[in-house]
Amino acid sequence: MSEHRVIIRRCNDYDPKLISKIIKEGMEELGVKPFGNVLLKPNTVIAHPEIFPYAFTRKEFLDGMLEALKETSENIKEISVGERCGITIPTRFCFKNAGYPEVIKKHKAKTYYFDEEKSVPVKLKKEGRLRDRVFIPKSVTKCDFLINLPKFKAHPWTRLTLSLKNFIGIQDDRHRLVDHNIHLEEKIADLQEVVQPKFIAIDGIIAGQKMMLTPEPYPLGAIIMGTNSCAVDTVCCHMVSVNPKDLKHLHLTSQRGFGPMNLDEIEVTGDFPLDEIQKKTKDFAFCMERIDDYFKDHKAVSCTLGKFPEGREYCWGGCPGSLQEAMHIFKGVSPDVEDKMEKVRVVIGKVDKPLNLEKGEKVIFAGDCTSWEGEIDGQKVKIESSYKTKTQVDEGKTKSNDMLLKNFISMIKCFTLGKKRFIHAKGCTISVADQVHYLSFLGKIENPNYDKRLFFGVAFAYLRMKVSLFWNIIRN
Ligand code: SF4
Repeated sequence: MSEHRVIIRRCNDYDPKLISKIIKEGMEELGVKPFGNVLLKPNTVIAHPEIFPYAFTRKEFLDGMLEALKETSENIKEISVGERCGITIPTRFCFKNAGYPEVIKKHKAKTYYFDEEKSVPVKLKKEGRLRDRVFIPKSVTKCDFLINLPKFKAHPWTRLTLSLKNFIGIQDDRHRLVDHNIHLEEKIADLQEVVQPKFIAIDGIIAGQKMMLTPEPYPLGAIIMGTNSCAVDTVCCHMVSVNPKDLKHLHLTSQRGFGPMNLDEIEVTGDFPLDEIQKKTKDFAFCMERIDDYFKDHKAVSCTLGKFPEGREYCWGGCPGSLQEAMHIFKGVSPDVEDKMEKVRVVIGKVDKPLNLEKGEKVIFAGDCTSWEGEIDGQKVKIESSYKTKTQVDEGKTKSNDMLLKNFISMIKCFTLGKKRFIHAKGCTISVADQVHYLSFLGKIENPNYDKRLFFGVAFAYLRMKVSLFWNIIRN
């Protein structure tokens, strides 16, 4: 019998009772008995029932997990649900929109919003690590038993987001965006050293295709369970016919000794055979495309790419991906955005050639690694790179990446442009929210950040988040 077992169970409905039964049987088969401080980490990168309905672990899944937990655990001190959602939006907002608070209350669990607590350094020792330490919320360092509850989704930067990638959400914004660039895959491998989940249950009932914030739904009808992130992610790769070696963070994490990435070393059980799933998922869609190819037929956005830093061929973990996600958000809010938008060129990397701009075409020089010299409207323009290598970035002295501050800076940049038709957007990486600001301003389209379905809820959650963060800091 193999040391690593992964269970794939059929489940076509978001029925909490059915999910609970399946997870309980999975935990018993795997001999999982949670104890002590149990922390559940779902994927709530973003959540909204209308705008982002398929991006997050569903509340029925969390409900089923919490119910199963009651029946299988021993000597529990605390059960909690913790997360830091994405793109600098307060986690409170996403939890509310995912419907989590009532489920958490029903099961008398606690909530940890990782953006509302202090982060502490954790030393890393594994050979091949990117950094010697990372910063993690206290509640994560305190937990005895971490249960990982990812959403099964394609990802435009890392191909798939499963168990390993879900740990990007254990860092607050100040630390999450450090190395969220050409080093993203190594960063994900680093995070596995901080804490390894003792049980993983992936919500693959309705999986997500192509994008991570605005995925297209795919009725996969599966719950995947295991006790080792590498083993679970390897099996999930095979479910959608991806070579596990192409999931770079899986390859790196496995090389560091955290688990297998070879199917021969994993026992796959359950009632949903892998070959049947592979036949079913032949049309599962990904979106791992360089942005110059991706936008080549777009009516409004075009891209000029140059050389990327540190000899990399492309930056899969930073500005190019956030541009793609931003454009998908516009499309989600307004499907005909391509027809309405004015032309915008996005320039990324060290570019040594003329831009040959069309009349009136605007330009975003995106990211710290971007440089270019030439003339725009008869004026000399020199964009200089301020890119810092990994060793030049001190993870202990990071910027806050506060949502309001970042919004303010990007809006000031836009409103003080005058007659210039270009912006140099700084950051490594530029967040999706910033990309949205710049694209809406230069492309003259509605800014989804001010969509009333988002704006008031986000603003209220932001205020509550700030008060709670202040309180938690003075209390500890
Ligand atoms: S500035 Fe952007 S594109 Fe350049 S390395 Fe950083 S994240 Fe990547």
